[in-house]
This record gives sequence, structure tokens and C-alpha cells, in this order.
Amino acid sequence: MLIRKLFKFEGAHIVRNCSSQRCRENIHGHSYIVEVFIASDKLDKGYMVMDFVLLDKVKELIDSFDHSYSLWQKEEEDLKQFVYRYNRRVAEIPVSPSAEGYALLFLFLIDKILQRTEHKNGEGNVRLNSVRVHETATGYAEAFREDLSLVDFSLKDIRFSEAIQEEWKDNVWWKTLK
Ligand SMILES: [Zn+2]
Repeated sequence: MLIRKLFKFEGAHIVRNCSSQRCRENIHGHSYIVEVFIASDKLDKGYMVMDFVLLDKVKELIDSFDHSYSLWQKEEEDLKQFVYRYNRRVAEIPVSPSAEGYALLFLFLIDKILQRTEHKNGEGNVRLNSVRVHETATGYAEAFREDLSLVDFSLKDIRFSEAIQEEWKDNVWWKTLK
């Protein structure tokens, strides 16, 4: 059985090397919608796959990108310096911040979060099915576990600026992933 939880964030980026000149040459933003699909072979005592309350760390993750600049690790050094100088909320990431890049990044991180989430209510084999990222109202990218073979990165390649970390309720969610 499949369940789905929706999250939102307002994010800024440039998508280098894409076909659209507007996207690849201008800092701009989108109202992102992130859908997280979770599957299980069993229902818990409350007849749920899992309670959405247990997704609090996923909320913290997605919120880390809200009103943030998503900075691709491979950007030119002068742009990196500019971004850090004039923005407090910066998420430096190892994938280009396309919808596809976000979907893969979130899949990678949410999978780790779910693996470390304690299930105490008789849940079954709860696993992340996919992550869908809508950049506009008309298009989305959806990443499945096997799609992680398209990228190669690790946790240490992901960096949240101090201003983002300061707003975390606690940093346990990030520490426990490491
Ligand atoms: Zn864009």
C-alpha cells in the first residue's frame, strides 16, 4: 500500500547547462511542491502505513530549502562568493538544482531518514517508494530508488549554511544521518 505526503518550499537557483537560456543564465525562483511516496506491506495498529507525525525530520529537511539559495557545488568560485556574501540561507548541493536533481537529492536523504525512523506501532516493511518534485504547476520529476545510479554523491557533499542550521528545531535529524 502506498501513502503520499506533500511538502512545499520557495527556492532560488540557476540551472546551468540546461537548454533554456532563461533558466541557465538567471537567478530565479519557484514555488516547489515535493511529494513523498511511502510504501509498506503491512498496516500498523492504527491501520496506517505509518503516521505522518513520524515525518517531522523530512519536514525539517524540506524546510531547509525554503527561502534558500540552492547552490550547485560546481558553480564558479566568484558566484559562490557572491551567493554566500549576500544570502544567509544557502544550501550547497552536489547536484544541479533541477527538479530532477532535487528529486534525487531528496530521495537519497529521505531514504536515510526513514531508515533511521523508529517504528513502534506495529508498522511493516516501510520503505520510500519515490519522491516527486514539481517546479511549476505543469511539470514534475519523480525519482525512484534505482535512479540513484544516475548520480554519485555522499552526505558530506551537502552543506547547509549557519542561518539554515540555526532555524532547525534541533540538529538531531542531520546528525543522525551521518
Ligand atoms: Zn528554475
